[in-house]
Amino acid sequence: MCRHLGYLGPAVPVAGLLDRPTGLLRQTWAPADMRGGGTVNVDGFGVGWYVDGEPEPVRYRRAVPMWTDAAFTGIAAVTRSAAVLAAARSATIGMPVVDQACAPFTGGRWLFSHNGRIAGWPGSVADLAAELPTVDLVTLDAPTDSALLWALVRHRLRAGASMADALAGVVLAVADRAPDSRLNLMITDGVTVAATTWWHSLSTLTGPDFVVVASEPWDDDPQWTSVADRALVTASRTPIPTVRVRALGRPDKDADDRLPA
Ligand code: GLN
Repeated sequence: MCRHLGYLGPAVPVAGLLDRPTGLLRQTWAPADMRGGGTVNVDGFGVGWYVDGEPEPVRYRRAVPMWTDAAFTGIAAVTRSAAVLAAARSATIGMPVVDQACAPFTGGRWLFSHNGRIAGWPGSVADLAAELPTVDLVTLDAPTDSALLWALVRHRLRAGASMADALAGVVLAVADRAPDSRLNLMITDGVTVAATTWWHSLSTLTGPDFVVVASEPWDDDPQWTSVADRALVTASRTPIPTVRVRALGRPDKDADDRLPA
């Protein structure tokens, strides 16, 4: 499964958020908590960040392992941002390895990422997909479960849902149809990060002036808090750094015994 990271805090070099002892860069080749969903995250990466005064974030993504992209390393070293969403991809078997399949997916002010897979893709969620406007379907970034999840979330956002409600609604709708799915979603608008856990790892770190939500801790700081399975997390930096967690559906005690396809 892929790995992702959301950061809200003082403007810092993007590279400093990725290159940590056990951070996203290292998680590309040595993730610690994949829970049976793959071994490495080398099928691509993407980073989205907000720039002061710009209404929409910048997004960079490529279908190569993060460490191989020397041009990005240079850009990330000198690019500062106060709101970042980054992801490293392990493609689900059968899904294309192309730039357009890498998170974060974008639309307006939003950046979106998915760790996991939709079980029984694509037939299991065909009826959900059919609820989308045709234009949304024919302009999916890639023929992948993650791109469809983004279209479903974006559709709810455009109808007025909050980020948290949009994520929760999509996770529950997909899980109803495809119960063995892994649905750790993450979204930000540059002010708030919302994320779900659905059969995958997620941790949070709250500092004096920042919050981080990540698939895995980026270091061994004891302040990292592991999020329970089947939860909805909302994190914001202002007025003070805050992380809220609430339950999302019933706990599935057998989840860790099932292996992903
Ligand atoms: N299923 C998604 C993809 O193939 C996400 C992959 C993952 O989390 N491993 O892009």
